Amino acid sequence: MVASFSAADLHIHTTASDGTASPEAVLSYVAGKTDLRVIAITDHDTLAGALVARRLAPQYGIEVIVGCEISTQVGHLLALFIEQPVPAGLDLATTVALVHAQGGMAFAAHPFGALVPSIGRRCLLGPERTDLDWSLLDGIEVFNASLWYPANNRRAARKAQALSLTQIGGSDAHNLAMIGAGRTLFPGQSAADLRYALQRRATLVTGKAWGWRGVAGVAREQIQQWFDRRQTDSVEMTGSLQ
Ligand SMILES: [Zn+2]
Ligand SMILES: [Zn+2]
Repeated sequence: MVASFSAADLHIHTTASDGTASPEAVLSYVAGKTDLRVIAITDHDTLAGALVARRLAPQYGIEVIVGCEISTQVGHLLALFIEQPVPAGLDLATTVALVHAQGGMAFAAHPFGALVPSIGRRCLLGPERTDLDWSLLDGIEVFNASLWYPANNRRAARKAQALSLTQIGGSDAHNLAMIGAGRTLFPGQSAADLRYALQRRATLVTGKAWGWRGVAGVAREQIQQWFDRRQTDSVEMTGSLQ
């Protein structure tokens, strides 16, 4: 019998970092508007949104993996299946060791991406980094729907194939509409099935790049959010002066 595959989006941001949707809104959207069975919440350097989402997930009939997009010295690292925060700003080997010590798995996020700190590139818009030990990682995000230069996804896929590393895909969604644009396919249905597939390099990856319209939409929502926050802050400040 051929096992049927399910889809997971393993790279989603919420309002706990720079996303525009709350953990509750993400769960509601995933349950109501997508066919995803498993998602990972991977906010920048915090588990707060992921922990809330995991607690509420049973009400929505989906499973949430607690994850984090950790800012390391060499770029963003996606940690999945973790329980404790890992400090930002550490070197790659130390960061991966701290992820593994708590039973987590570590993946390069958007490797070679030029506009955000990315494993595989020396600095923003800089040349490729040649001094990395990629074998420290459990795998590589070979499809990131938010990359502005799609060739970097192909480059990431070639790197994963050359090193026989697990391949994952994610949307890097910062708003609801982009959730599911990048997907990791795995045999089975549960987060445990997904973890089993990740450990055995049995995942497949698919996705659809955001394009300029999607990127512009997120930027617009983030600016609106910043503006709303400023107004709230000024109302609070006025209130405290009275
Ligand atoms: Zn990133
Ligand atoms: Zn991200």
